[in-house]
Formats: sequence, structure tokens, C-alpha cells
Amino acid sequence: MPLATPYYLIDENLLEANLAKVDRLRALSGAKCVMALKAFSTWSTFAQLAPHMDGSTSSSLNEVKLGREKFGGETHAYSVAWSDAEIDEAIANADKVIFNSVSQFERYAAKAAHLPLGIRVNPGVSHSHFDLADPARPFSRLGERDLARIESVMDRASGFMIHCNCENDSFESFATLLDRFEEKLGAFFERIDWISFGGGVHFTGASYPLEKLAARLKAFSERYRLQVYLEPGDAVVTGTTTLEVSVLDIVENDKQIAIVDSAVEAHMLDLLVYRENASVAPDSGPHRYVIAGKSCLAGDVFGEFSFEAPLRIGDRVSFLNAGGYTMVKKNWFNGVAMPSIAIRRKDGSVDLIREFGYTDYVASLS
Ligand SMILES: *Cc1c(COP(=O)(O)O)cnc(C)c1O
Repeated sequence: MPLATPYYLIDENLLEANLAKVDRLRALSGAKCVMALKAFSTWSTFAQLAPHMDGSTSSSLNEVKLGREKFGGETHAYSVAWSDAEIDEAIANADKVIFNSVSQFERYAAKAAHLPLGIRVNPGVSHSHFDLADPARPFSRLGERDLARIESVMDRASGFMIHCNCENDSFESFATLLDRFEEKLGAFFERIDWISFGGGVHFTGASYPLEKLAARLKAFSERYRLQVYLEPGDAVVTGTTTLEVSVLDIVENDKQIAIVDSAVEAHMLDLLVYRENASVAPDSGPHRYVIAGKSCLAGDVFGEFSFEAPLRIGDRVSFLNAGGYTMVKKNWFNGVAMPSIAIRRKDGSVDLIREFGYTDYVASLS
């Protein structure tokens, strides 16, 4: 029996293709890659991911614990701000702790003195098309910028984390950023043992010059004699997952509008946040439809797409690239049925790995 929609469908073969690129980058560059759980935390896939990565990195205590428990390898603990209530548990589950500010470093470093400690540094430059996601935006709180303040923790910090890329598919842009880091921070790089360049480098893309990236990272690590890390999130899962939905109704208002059993805000929130459309394939043919969600939000629209045949009630629509920043952000807005999670195995069979029902909805509130 076919699975009931809506569901996210993760494809193991497509994941494997991305992971092969992660492996190639690690082998050619010597850089370590830790999975950014913020982008994708669907832990049923971690058994497949973990052998091709060096561990995980986090943005909260919950992610630290998930990384330790389900991913393995090195567990990097980073948070924009740790609280007194969570720091001990974060340290207990971490192999490295990265602080976002000198004040957090001063507050908690002594507790974690047995671990390698890092400080997030903000070089004031970035590659991001969105102000919302730009760590170098004015008044940014993401990382220390002041060189004297950074100097004040150099007696205890063994590494830096610099995350300034967001969906960066240009090697030239990454290389230029690295040049800027070196100009500004090169003297510090001589003194640390490791550096993480964060996530946002889309090196798994079909036309990305992975060899050039690897060579640049390798040269960097040799020049400063340090271990380079990357923290890919979206790049690991890009193109591997779809959101499978069904048409529930078709209405007309100057255009044909197909309403599906999902909602943008609840199941693919970033489309709204970044004002983007979903995508479908092949998106060709003479029949044009707006595909919209079933929430009561007027702008709950996935996009306008072309189909070879007229859509009918019950037809399947498959939204592409629904792996990164979707399942980690899904919510119960409108009480819309939560998509299940399914995995297409390497042999083509599909396993339903998690369903969500009314009891999960009730349990999410009180
Ligand atoms: C968001 C984030 C990542 C992952 O970014 P992707 O764009 O998903 O690769 C890695 N490191 C840090 C510090 C982040 O904030």
C-alpha cells in the first residue's frame, strides 16, 4: 500500500552521492567535516551519515546531546549563549566547546578546561544574500570582532570558529573570504591548533570545483599548521529529500489553484522566511497551477508550476529539496497533519520510519 501523504522522503542513494563528495573533500584536503545538526537532525539517517563525517556540531544543548547519543565521532558544542542551567551537561557531552563571546568564555572556560576550547570570531565579512542570515550584518552578536578581546582568551583557546557563509556555491567567493580572514587574523592563526570555517559552503553541488576547495583548505592548514574543520549542514542533504503531498481540492480564481495536504509555514518554513518558491520536476507542460497549502494563511503558497496533464484530486505532488531546514523547523501551525518521515532504501524499497498523530500534537502543548 502506498504511504499516506504528507511525508518527507529521504533517498539513501542520493545521500550516498553527497557523502561521497564529503569523503573526497576530507581525503583531498585533510579537513574534518562535522555535521551541523541545526540543518538536519533526522537521526534515523545518522548510521549512514556518520561513517563519512568526523562527528557533529550543534547550536544548543539538545543538539549536543543528540550528536553525542546518535551521531558519534567528535561532538562540538557551540551555542550563541549557554545558560548556567545547561553548561555542565553541554560540557559533559562535548569533545570541544566553542564559545560565542569572550564574556561566555570567561564565564565558563574554567569548567571545561580539560577540553579543547574555541572562540567564535567574526571577521566582519560574509557571503550571504539575506540580511536575516548574515553574520556580518550591523550590530551582529555572532562572534567576537575585537582583536584585543580575542587576544585576552588566547592563553586558553586552542581554536577558532568562523562561520560567514550561507548557501555559497562560489569557490572564488569562499577563497576571497579566506584571503580576508588571513589579512586580518593571520597572526592569530599561527597560534591556534584548529579552525572551523563553519557551514554554508555548497561543495556538493554538481558544478562545484571541489578539488580547488580542497587544495585551498590543504594549503591553509599547512601554512598555519592547524586542523581545518568544516561544518556542512545543508550541503550534506541537498537534493536528497522530497516532501510528498496530495491534491485535496482544485479551485479557480483567475488561475487554477491546487490545494494540497501540507502547509508552507508548517512543513517548509524557509520558503516563507526567505521568500522563495518550492520546486517540482519536470515543471513543464501546458497545465499551469498554483500549488497552495491547506492552512488558513492567505500566503500559504508553494509556487506556480506546469504539469503535463490536468491535476486531479488525489494526485501526488513532490516538492524537491526538502531535506535541509525543513524537518528541524516543522511545527503544528493550524494543527495541520505533520508529515511522516520515510526513507527510500538503496534497493528502492520505502520504509516509513516515523508517523505523527493527534497524541503528538496534544503532547506539543499543554
Ligand atoms: C548554520 C550553521 C552551520 C550549517 O550551515 P549550512 O548552511 O547548513 O551548511 C554550520 N555552522 C554554524 C556555526 C552555523 O550557524
